[in-house]
Amino acid sequence: AAQNFDVIILGAGAAGLMCAIEAGKRGRRVALLDHAERTGKKILISGGGRCNFTNIHVRPENFLSENPHFARSALSRFTPDDIIALVEKHHIRYHEKTLGQLFCDRSAHDIVTMLERECAEAQVRIILNCRILSVRNDARFTIETSQGTFHSASLVVATGGLSIPKMGATGFGYAVAEQFDLRIVPCRPGLVPLVLNPADQARWCDLTGLSVEAVASAGAGKHRASFREKMLITHRGLSGPAMLQISSFWHPGKPLSIDLAPGSTVTAPLLEHNARRDPNAALQALRAIFPARLAERWLDLNHPANWTNTSLSTMEQQLHDWQITPAGTEGYAKAEVTIGGIDTNELDAKTMQSRKVPGLFFIGEVVDVTGWLGGYNFQWAWASAFSAGQAV
Ligand code: FAD
Repeated sequence: AAQNFDVIILGAGAAGLMCAIEAGKRGRRVALLDHAERTGKKILISGGGRCNFTNIHVRPENFLSENPHFARSALSRFTPDDIIALVEKHHIRYHEKTLGQLFCDRSAHDIVTMLERECAEAQVRIILNCRILSVRNDARFTIETSQGTFHSASLVVATGGLSIPKMGATGFGYAVAEQFDLRIVPCRPGLVPLVLNPADQARWCDLTGLSVEAVASAGAGKHRASFREKMLITHRGLSGPAMLQISSFWHPGKPLSIDLAPGSTVTAPLLEHNARRDPNAALQALRAIFPARLAERWLDLNHPANWTNTSLSTMEQQLHDWQITPAGTEGYAKAEVTIGGIDTNELDAKTMQSRKVPGLFFIGEVVDVTGWLGGYNFQWAWASAFSAGQAV
């Protein structure tokens, strides 16, 4: 026999769990369906296993979207203080790592356990290993699944983006949107390591594991973005927080500009009165900011033609504006997020409800709102889920 609920939520990730809790607390009968064998799998692997569950400095400016104002309403309805209050209610210890990023002291498991307990308290029915076969809408929603037929007045799509297919990511949410004729902003991987072309790989990639503090920039004019964080050389290209951040703003074929010595004048010691000007002096100066092997490599590849002031100034300029055009990204297999998704013009910013299809909601990563690295993506998941949870 078909099962009837007020609200059916597809996807028991960060957004689906939070929405279920809020709807359940309001007395709605909620079913939360997921094809995975457990809830919150991405939460478990997030933040290196410690889950960077929010960022205390969150602002709408920390998100990419075709409509940069869309996230404002939801973000003001459920703030970092609200998720912190929930975390503290469950006696989960946490700390600020850097730049406002809050991580669990112990394990991301604590966050999933917290959400599962809240779901139990709110009498949410969680149904796992549940394949969704079809979605229909005629006066109410009908969901055919491997575990039977479900009916509901509201349907919330929280199936996330395309990143890490190995963890069970699918394009399901986009397919539902298409079925109901909602526009989708084209998707691409974000917060993803960049791959260099073969020539640049030959120049740099044997230095895999070395890192420097850098400012990575991409784009022009109003769309220019810059991030000052660590950059890491990998066996195929560049990664580390600076590169992950800028990858979301990078477009294929375009160069990145990397300041490898932000705020310092590397050649200053060579310009001093009576200072030695030779490869050794240059190497010593570079070693003040780079690991030794990187300093040597940089000088090998960018050896000044001579030691005039002009040449030194060219060297300085090259260090602050290393122009490099990546060949591509590591793709969805390594991307933390999917940029693009359900066009926000299709949704009401207060409730996440479809303007065209009353009762249909989209929340979390499947929507065209993508955060920077640093806890912003979970904050969006919580906030958009809370907003929908109040409205379903
Ligand atoms: P998800 O959490 O992906 O949940 C979607 C759910 O839907 C899953 O349970 C999935 O099984 C289910 N599903 C998918 N397709 C179907 C289908 N066809 N049928 C049934 N169920 C389906 N963000 C941060 O803010 N801080 C971090 O520290 C952080 N670390 C990350 C580390 C990694 C390695 C990755 C990949 C991402 C990280 N992120 C982090 C991003 C963050 O995990 C996501 O933005 C967030 O999980 C999105 O929440 P969501 O609920 O929308 O989607």
